Amino acid sequence: MTLTIAIDGPAAAGKGTLARRLAAAYNLAYLDSGSLYRGTALSLLRSGLEPAEPAAVAAARGLKPELLADPEIRAEATGKLASQVAAIPAVRAALLDWQRGFAQHPPEGKRGAVLDGRDIGTVVLPDAMVKLFITASDEARAMRRFKELQAKGETAIYARVLEDMRERDARDTARSTAPMRPAEDALIIDTSAFDADQVFRQAKDHIDQ
Ligand code: C5P
Repeated sequence: MTLTIAIDGPAAAGKGTLARRLAAAYNLAYLDSGSLYRGTALSLLRSGLEPAEPAAVAAARGLKPELLADPEIRAEATGKLASQVAAIPAVRAALLDWQRGFAQHPPEGKRGAVLDGRDIGTVVLPDAMVKLFITASDEARAMRRFKELQAKGETAIYARVLEDMRERDARDTARSTAPMRPAEDALIIDTSAFDADQVFRQAKDHIDQ
């Protein structure tokens, strides 16, 4: 039987780490849906066009898979613009089929798919067999992101990272189309006080129930 797992939650809560571990444990294909919004933002940044609706929608429709592997999609500026273009309903619509197609047709040999993002359990895959909402305090998430930036050798200021993250969360939660929120049938895991192993075990216990 195909297994589909939807993981949602705010930035730096640990969604990606958990998704990768679940993908390995259950032989699933993994799609980081944020990379589609980031790829759209990067293609806009490179085009030099204003992030107005027509250009953003064209960038989403014409998104090239190669761009998803570009390290520049991880830059803070790309993430910020990604959350701005993600508020445009036509951009979301343009990326919906990509995400659903990935879940419905996992690569040969895979048992199913795990997708992470903000609206996977509520909009993209409302029938997913397993739904998880991974969250953590603002401070814990900002500290993780701050340490990641430091480890990459980038200059970062914790207070600034916290402020940017809150701004992005507020945009993701307040938008009218597909706002970030847990699906009614999602298991909510607060990772503030847990390490990756503990989060993985909680998720695995829930899936294996
Ligand atoms: O998760 P990540 O930080 O890579 O996502 C970048 C931005 O893309 C988020 O801030 C959010 O605005 C948007 N996004 C979204 N829906 C998703 C995944 C990401 O709106 N399913």
